[in-house]
Amino acid sequence: MKRAICPGSFDPVTNGHIDIFERAASMFDELIIGVFNNVRKKPMFSVEERVAILRETTSHIANVQVISFGGLLTDYMIANDVSCIVRGLRSVTDFEYEQGNAQVIKAAHPQLDTIFMLCRPEYAYISSSVVREIASFGGDFGRFVPEAVLRAVAQCDKQGK
Ligand code: ADP
Repeated sequence: MKRAICPGSFDPVTNGHIDIFERAASMFDELIIGVFNNVRKKPMFSVEERVAILRETTSHIANVQVISFGGLLTDYMIANDVSCIVRGLRSVTDFEYEQGNAQVIKAAHPQLDTIFMLCRPEYAYISSSVVREIASFGGDFGRFVPEAVLRAVAQCDKQGK
C-alpha cells in the first residue's frame, strides 16, 4: 500500500490545495492530508475547524484521510507507514523553500521521498495568507476557496469571532 501525505497549515484550504489533493490522490493508494498547528499567533481557524472543513471539501475523493499532528512530520510518517510527502509548487520561491526541507528529510531518512506538483497556472497567485488578508478587511475572496470555507467564515462572523 503506497501512502503519501500532503502536510500544511491549510488556514484556510484554497482551491489551489484542493486541486493538488485531487491530482495526488490519483497517484497513491491513500493520501493523508496532515494539518499541523502553526505558530502564528492568531490563526483564522483552529486546527479542529480546519480538519472539519478539509473533511467536507475532500469528501468527493475516496482515498483521502484528514488528520492533525503536532510533532515532527517524519515521526508521523515513519509511525504510520507513509513513504512520500507531496508539496504543491506555485513559483521558484516555493521551490527554493521546499528544496531545503526535502534535502534535510532525505539526509535524515533516506527511505522517505518528497515529490512536487506544479499548480495549475490559474491557481498560482492563490495563497492562504492572501485569503486571510482579504478576509480581515471583509473583502470578497469567494473565488479562491471552496464553499465550506465561506460558510465557516460566515459562521464566525455571526458568532462575532
Ligand atoms: P505551509 O504552512 O506549509 O506553507 P500551506 O497550507 O500554505 O502550508 O500549503 C500547503 C502546501 O500547499 C504547500 O506545499 C504549498 O506550497 C501548497 N500550496 C499552497 N497554495 C497553493 C496553490 N495555490 N496551488 C498549489 N499548491 C499550493
